[in-house]
Amino acid sequence: MNEPDLNPNLPSNTIPQEELQDYSLATRGVHADDVMNTYSDVAPALHVATTFRYTDDLDKLKPIDDAAPSRQAGGPVQGDQHVYSRVSAPNMSRLELLLTSIIGGPCLTYSSGIAAFHALLVHLRPKVVAIGDGYHGCHGTLKLYQRLSGCEIVNLFDEASWEGKDWKLGQGDMVHLETPVNPYGTAFNIQHFADLAHRRGAYLTVDATFAPPPLQDPFQHGTDLVMHSGTKYIGGHSDMLCGIIAINKTVSEWQKHYWEMFEDRIFLGSTVGNMESWLGVRSLRTLELRVTRQSASAEKLVKFLHECITGGDQGPDAVAIKSIMTSVQHASLQVNDMSWLRQQMPGGFGPVFVINATSADKAKRLPSKLELFHHATSLGGVESLIEWRSMSDASVADTVLRVSVGVEAWEDLRADLIKACKALGS
Ligand SMILES: *Cc1c(COP(=O)(O)O)cnc(C)c1O
Repeated sequence: MNEPDLNPNLPSNTIPQEELQDYSLATRGVHADDVMNTYSDVAPALHVATTFRYTDDLDKLKPIDDAAPSRQAGGPVQGDQHVYSRVSAPNMSRLELLLTSIIGGPCLTYSSGIAAFHALLVHLRPKVVAIGDGYHGCHGTLKLYQRLSGCEIVNLFDEASWEGKDWKLGQGDMVHLETPVNPYGTAFNIQHFADLAHRRGAYLTVDATFAPPPLQDPFQHGTDLVMHSGTKYIGGHSDMLCGIIAINKTVSEWQKHYWEMFEDRIFLGSTVGNMESWLGVRSLRTLELRVTRQSASAEKLVKFLHECITGGDQGPDAVAIKSIMTSVQHASLQVNDMSWLRQQMPGGFGPVFVINATSADKAKRLPSKLELFHHATSLGGVESLIEWRSMSDASVADTVLRVSVGVEAWEDLRADLIKACKALGS
């Protein structure tokens, strides 16, 4: 469709939308929304309005029933198309335009990751859902959905459980994979689960929160719909809640999926906030920089700790580490999986890993000895975090410490860990 007055002030050297995907991720994070630049300000404005004036051009005043979507799924909403911010708003549209380019399929944003997962369930209405361990909050949401729908919940890793006496996982059902998985940061073969789902006519949905672009592109390996808690790496600064659903354009009737979910969201009321959308755009400018650094640092820390624990080094640093840690867990240590893992996580293995402590007491105390790691839940921010996981998740062992690596220099983080282990050991 022609959009002559979308943006009269757009500089003529703006990247044409059709050429956008030829640019690198780093460049798209900065420029994929240039087409929405309306004023001369380089940093996008924060629009806080909940309601928007209708046009005074009477020919353009269309009652809501006639308002057939006049834009591409995932494309920019024009300034004069906003009506009410539960439906669409300028910052939200800018965020979704950027995410659509970055994730590689039309995106919808939500008030939280959990709200996005809920929207996914409401949209797909599965009768059977296969799900593994992983983020405990999603299991809570699924139980709510089960209360309303009576759906069967089966074990992702036990195909024999996918079939009961008078039901089986099939057409339109949902195979939900979280990878890399919370809290361990270990990864699963996406293509394998895509094949299992598609053989039965089910959808493969992937919670890719732990490995945003450029680490992993689940669409390349058969995923139908991708979800993210945007609260984590997309936000990246520990200051915004947000959820994201992205639709693979190779899914049949992908546009129908998009518009149905768009309309559902109006009535779920789980729209992302204006402020959060604005923060999200700020965040995406540096997504590639942050995530690449965080993931590389995590890999170096994991390698260092793993070698201290398993190697023969009897130096004081290794001895201190060994007195506190029995093992570390991270996708980079899955040596037997590297044939598919290198393909599926070409950009790095993710910034989250787990330290298994020698005792629950050590796990509880280690965070208090660290200076650079905050003792807090969540992940994905520029600040390194460590969490004695028992504080927020009753389903994991009380010796588990989850680490989220920030953008600090990894050598400083290593020194902090060594110092803390020595302090705790003595
Ligand atoms: C945090 C998280 C969620 C939930 O996201 P919220 O934004 O907190 O609602 C879902 N899945 C994973 C893997 C997460 O880490």
